[in-house]
Amino acid sequence: MKLAIDQQKLVSEIETLATFSDAQAPAVTRVVFTETERKARDWVKDRCEDAGLVIWDDAIGNTFARWVGSDPHAPAVGTGSHIDAIPNAGKYDGVVGVLGGLEAIRALQRSGFHPKHSIELLIFTSEEPTRFGIGCLGSRLLSGTLSAEAARKLTDNDGVSVEDVRRKAGLAGELEKVKLHPGAYKAFVELHIEQGPILEREGKPLGVVERIAAPASLRITVEGSGGHAGGVLMPDRHDALCAAAELILALEHAARSTGAIDTVATVGICDVFPGAVNSIPAKVRLSVDVRDTSLQRRGEVLRALDEACRATSEDREVAIQTEVLNADAPAECGPPVIAALSAACEKHGFSFLPMTSRAYHDSLFMSRIAPAAMLFIPCRNGYSHRPDEYASPEDISRGALVLAEALAMLAE
Ligand SMILES: [Zn+2]
Repeated sequence: MKLAIDQQKLVSEIETLATFSDAQAPAVTRVVFTETERKARDWVKDRCEDAGLVIWDDAIGNTFARWVGSDPHAPAVGTGSHIDAIPNAGKYDGVVGVLGGLEAIRALQRSGFHPKHSIELLIFTSEEPTRFGIGCLGSRLLSGTLSAEAARKLTDNDGVSVEDVRRKAGLAGELEKVKLHPGAYKAFVELHIEQGPILEREGKPLGVVERIAAPASLRITVEGSGGHAGGVLMPDRHDALCAAAELILALEHAARSTGAIDTVATVGICDVFPGAVNSIPAKVRLSVDVRDTSLQRRGEVLRALDEACRATSEDREVAIQTEVLNADAPAECGPPVIAALSAACEKHGFSFLPMTSRAYHDSLFMSRIAPAAMLFIPCRNGYSHRPDEYASPEDISRGALVLAEALAMLAE
């Protein structure tokens, strides 16, 4: 089997897909279920059809493009990613895994390889949380992590329900049918840009992801009492922002204290009410994001935060309310898929770095129903989710080549 990636074609397809955008180039904005996103998806489906793949969509709009294997009833080997992009993003996030996955399939076809297991390209719906406030909508439903009932309750930023939005996009069928039966996939592997600086820093062309961290997101509301910045004396104050500051530092301390490099905690939003220079903060809303590859360690940090909330509330006589918005479990990647990716790198003489994915991806949810792993390629300066996101043609085609090799091993 002589595998070769058509680098020029792959790069030109990435460039063309970037023209389906609601932002000025080089920025890409492609929000799920907009006209632009639907056109982009149709364009990719046409490319899949050119490759002779069998294509269908499920009720939430996940696209499947299958190269039917010699044993069509055997579980398929899946690959793919997403093509939706947050406002003012770049060309490569998700896209490299979709068009790179398609090119990997075409390279296998050109090589004369015939898979026993079908090889299937997936384009997931709404990996980005831009529209519905929840990431990986398609893969959550596929894996049963999110129920059809819970999905129907989601609304977009204009208050329109998922149900209405998808039906307007022409997707019929019931959301209940999206969940895949166990054993639908023998393996799943996702090619993706790293979205971090480690590969570049270490001078490695590829990363084989062994575990995927997952965030717990919380909203904390602190209510104290406001008043005039001059009139209320210090002993009488119940300043909500001072209380919130204690919580932020307690969270930082808790995350540092685990001693594990994989534990990270962030307060990214701090809304202060009423928000005037001469007014004592009466109310503060914080967003909290805690991530780890270990559910137990992440739990320890959350418990420490809880304890800080209790103590601060008591000491400062403020009311503190915590709401858990989301707490997905992290995932260990599938050993057979890690082995196939590692063997594929070695076969082609590429060195690679075993890695942790600190961002989460559709693979996190696919790992609930199949052995899954990811292959990372470097991106310049680790930049992602911005217009100057960049991966070199060489790195992209190297990733597609290793992906093709690994798919062949898994589909044999
Ligand atoms: Zn992505």
